[in-house]
Amino acid sequence: MNFDVVIVGGGLAGLSTAAYLSNNGKKVAVLERGKLGGRAVTLPLKGFKFNFGAHAIYGRDTSILKTFEKELKLNIDWNDFNPYKARYDTGKELSHVPSNVRGLFKTKILSSPGKVLFAWEVFKTMLSIDSGEPHVSIGKWLEKNKIEGDVKKMMLTLASSNFFTSEPEQIPSEVFFQYYKRIFTTNKPVAYIGGGWQALIDEFVRVIKDNNGEIFEKTKLQQVVTANNKVTELHCGDTIYSANDFVFCIPPKELAKVFTETEIEDWVKQYAKYQSTKVYVYDIGLSERVDSPFTYIYDQENKMFITDISYYDETCTPEGGQLLQAVAYLKEEEIGKPEILEEYKEKIEALYDKHFNGWRENLVVQRVSKNAVVQEIKWNMNQVAMPIYFPDFRNTFFAGDWCEGQGQLSELSFSSALNVANLILKK
Ligand SMILES: Cc1cc2nc3c(=O)[nH]c(=O)nc-3n(C[C@H](O)[C@H](O)[C@H](O)COP(=O)(O)OP(=O)(O)OC[C@H]3O[C@@H](n4cnc5c(N)ncnc54)[C@H](O)[C@@H]3O)c2cc1C
Repeated sequence: MNFDVVIVGGGLAGLSTAAYLSNNGKKVAVLERGKLGGRAVTLPLKGFKFNFGAHAIYGRDTSILKTFEKELKLNIDWNDFNPYKARYDTGKELSHVPSNVRGLFKTKILSSPGKVLFAWEVFKTMLSIDSGEPHVSIGKWLEKNKIEGDVKKMMLTLASSNFFTSEPEQIPSEVFFQYYKRIFTTNKPVAYIGGGWQALIDEFVRVIKDNNGEIFEKTKLQQVVTANNKVTELHCGDTIYSANDFVFCIPPKELAKVFTETEIEDWVKQYAKYQSTKVYVYDIGLSERVDSPFTYIYDQENKMFITDISYYDETCTPEGGQLLQAVAYLKEEEIGKPEILEEYKEKIEALYDKHFNGWRENLVVQRVSKNAVVQEIKWNMNQVAMPIYFPDFRNTFFAGDWCEGQGQLSELSFSSALNVANLILKK
């Protein structure tokens, strides 16, 4: 089968690349080994719709998803995060989140001099006066610049929650400042999508189909064939797909398998060795809402948080129900250790007991994931994101949250997808 562009992988990166290219006149095909959505999946269970992840979009007004929304005329039901219903749990007390001027004024996690210093840091980040240094982690950068005490703790707490990591000090300082320059200047720091990831997937599929694109589910790429510095064919069982250009939106470990015995095998393999950002997710569906003034609680000491997803998306529960999501950030050495993961479970249940007392009586269904990959390549000083193309292979591109781009998490998938699509359209 022959197409202008074949896109492998039907996650957010693959579907957004395909939608954009088909909307711009390319005849595209998407090959997906399982069901569409990848890690952005919405699972129906006993009348509740569980999203794999919170489907929060950060800085939506300046996000790449906004660009897709505008250019592809996607229908997205945005529900903005309410900072007045968010609190940090310091262990001793609940404190306002300093995500706006009022929060900064009221928060107890910063002292009065700390508030002034933190506001000054925000200002310098916005104006790129502070932009980090090459080869210096944010932990080292804060030390070098003598930023200490509550201000240091505040900056690292922010990084924990945006980068989904319990080791925020390891983030490269340049990545940190590039990220916060955008987030500090946004008017919409966090927003959820009504209908969850599924609503977004449906919109991308609609655009692809309206533009005569083809989607092949349950179609697994097994081997890439190359010749003369080009990809020529994709083998999926007995079916062969050929095209002028190919976009691979599958994670590095899968790329390493399908590119064996090609000239770029070794180049691809280095990215497959990197660690991922992983979390413990514990979602609960309740028959009735538990009365609470807050919809987001971040446990500062244990680096975990609860979001009342149903406050932002009424469609995710049966009438009158509530869907709460808890996420705990895992360290590499904790992954797969049953006794440590059991401790996380107990800590999360204790956090539910503390802030949503009554959940046990109303519990209808729970969903636990002990090893969820939030981002395929974790940001630390020993790892780098994968480029979106290999210089010698002029018809071969890569997109996904493991690739170079803007932002974190799904924003990396969308930004690498848009960059790749534009490179193909410019050819
Ligand atoms: C618990 C959790 C919470 C999260 N919370 C957020 C959040 O709040 N905000 C946010 O922005 N992001 C969040 N994320 C991250 C977000 O889900 C991912 O960044 C995004 O879904 C990645 O999409 P992708 O297309 O880059 O990769 P993937 O979703 O991994 O897509 C890859 C696709 O390729 C397919 N594939 C693999 N191998 C083959 C093959 N050989 N042939 C054919 N197909 C193949 C896979 O089946 C998959 O569909 C969260 C993730 C998790 C797990």
